[in-house]
Amino acid sequence: MTVYRRIALRTALLYLLLSVVWLQLVGYLLSSFFDQSADRLRWLLINGYAWVLVSAGLIFLTRVRMSRFFGPGEHSADRERLRQAAAVFDCTREGVLVTDRNGLIVHVNRAFMAITGYGRDEVLGQRPNLFKSGRHGPDFYRDMFVALDSLGEWSGEIWNRRKSGEIYPQWQTIRVVRDDNGQVSHYVAVFSDISAIKDSEHELAHLAHHDPLTGLPNRLLFSDRTEQALASAQLHKRGCALLLVDLDHFKNINDSLGHNVGDELLKGVAERFRGLFAPGVTLARLGGDEFAVLVENCAQPGQAAVLARRILDALKEPLRLDQQSLFINASIGISLFPGDALSAGQLLRNADSALFKAKSAGRDGYALYTEELTVHAQQRVEIASELRLALQQQQLRVHYQPVYDLASSRLIGVEALVRWEHPTRGLVSPAEFIPIAERVGLIAQIDAWVMDQACRQMCRWQQAGVALSFVAVNVSSRLFAHRELYEQVAKVLHDTGLDPACLELEVTESAVMEDPEVALEQMHRLRELGVRLAIDDFGTGYSSLLRLKRLPVQKLKIDQGFVAGLPWDEDDAAIVRVIIALAHSMGMQVHAEGIEQREQAAFLLEQACELGQGYWFGRPVAAQQLDWDRAPAIA
Ligand code: C2E
Ligand code: MG
Ligand code: MG
Repeated sequence: MTVYRRIALRTALLYLLLSVVWLQLVGYLLSSFFDQSADRLRWLLINGYAWVLVSAGLIFLTRVRMSRFFGPGEHSADRERLRQAAAVFDCTREGVLVTDRNGLIVHVNRAFMAITGYGRDEVLGQRPNLFKSGRHGPDFYRDMFVALDSLGEWSGEIWNRRKSGEIYPQWQTIRVVRDDNGQVSHYVAVFSDISAIKDSEHELAHLAHHDPLTGLPNRLLFSDRTEQALASAQLHKRGCALLLVDLDHFKNINDSLGHNVGDELLKGVAERFRGLFAPGVTLARLGGDEFAVLVENCAQPGQAAVLARRILDALKEPLRLDQQSLFINASIGISLFPGDALSAGQLLRNADSALFKAKSAGRDGYALYTEELTVHAQQRVEIASELRLALQQQQLRVHYQPVYDLASSRLIGVEALVRWEHPTRGLVSPAEFIPIAERVGLIAQIDAWVMDQACRQMCRWQQAGVALSFVAVNVSSRLFAHRELYEQVAKVLHDTGLDPACLELEVTESAVMEDPEVALEQMHRLRELGVRLAIDDFGTGYSSLLRLKRLPVQKLKIDQGFVAGLPWDEDDAAIVRVIIALAHSMGMQVHAEGIEQREQAAFLLEQACELGQGYWFGRPVAAQQLDWDRAPAIA
């Protein structure tokens, strides 16, 4: 009740009271003056009561006037409020559902109908369990009613079913409405459809845990799963295996064919791997060309090895991309729980060491982690520190391997190969210490020293009248792109006075492909010095033929991997034929490495390959031990 209305009412009551008092007073006064005849008294009373009635009428009119002036009365305000509530109730975007105390639906709004797909008539008189999704157990509903009973309100996420049968998430608030006696009269539920929010939440969670290119779990999710798997394996006394898969020479594909092709290839590889594994195996892309596989319930190295073989075999068929088909191999490192490691981090590190072993062993294979590998890792650290001393204490040697002209069986050149005469380890192979020297930054010094030694030796041979066309030295891929290489070669030629045409620089195909544009520039500069250029280990680096054509290179050295199968392996034979034809079409000479048998040399000669090198002709030896007179009979 408003203040004004209260004032008006009180004024009117006072007026009424005063009127009655006034009437009694007038009656009393008159009766004392006049004869108290009954008729006069009656007349007075009737007159008085008429006055009261007129007053009451006036009060009513006053009240109506007042209420018109000051606003509607209490009942019309309530009606207005209800009208407004009904409009809000109907226009709100949240679904509203009202049940009576027995849980029968008595009201729903328009949004309710839009969200659920039900018409009003279909739900009035029904119970809300009509919308149950079946996703929540009895405990969920019990907790909800406990909260309603004790707090009078419940809110939370609930999955319900639309009329179409689709299940969707709602954010719902249910409130208990009580009457004046405190008894439950209604339940009001207000809810919104949060499927869109859920979808974007889900999408975000997916993005955070998956690799966008392949859709596989990423490193984060993989680590999580590994930790969970190890915890469960520990509990159930089971074993797990972690396989780390790295594609061989993937970078070359990216560089030579472009990142789009690289991406397509990664997708293709992921697709192929996906088809290999049963449920319970997690396949992830950790980054770049590195994939990881977590196998639960796998205790034996043999089981993991079988899986690794399956992965490698899956890559034997070419991957068909949009424009082309490509072959790619992989190397795999395997580490086992609990045999090799007890934590997820250690398991991954050990698999990485094993992967390194697989790569060092020539790629396209797998290796198991063993204690030995840790020892190897330690040895690598020791070698790195000893290598510095080796340079100072002149423990390095240069050996020379003869190169023969196949047509004439004449020794026409040598390749300089570095050796390390270690005081305790004996002769250490460059395959072992060159990668370490590259990593610790000693390779520049080593290569410069070998080049200097080789050029001096070549000068000595020439002075002694040995008819040798060239000495070849290897240039590390780490140095190849650097400007200093040019200066270093120029300095050696200047210092030794060797005819530049007698010096051949061997650069691996993968070094060229690391940055073909820089390689092209560098090669042109080196050619200006007059030295010869050869591409080493050809066939392993996915060279783009177009790029190869632009390179100022005089020679291709066929990798020994292709020579090994000659002449019987048809694939190797076909590849070698193609390489020879290709090189000749570009005006280059062909030089085959790793010839260990006469038949290999004969096949190569037949294919018009110009030069041959290998144990069959002669192993790398010290300069004084070279046999100049040997002329092996190839045919
Ligand atoms: P590369 O340049 O491809 O050298 C050929 C390798 O094959 C040499 O191994 C050689 O001994 C070996 N080899 C030659 N004929 C045969 C054969 O008939 N059968 C087999 N199985 N192997 C044969 P080496 O001397 O162990 O050198 C390995 C690699 O180390 C070289 O491969 C080269 O990449 C690198 N390297 C050697 N010396 C140097 C150097 O002074 N500087 C740089 N940067 N790398 C070097
Ligand atoms: Mg070489
Ligand atoms: Mg080679």
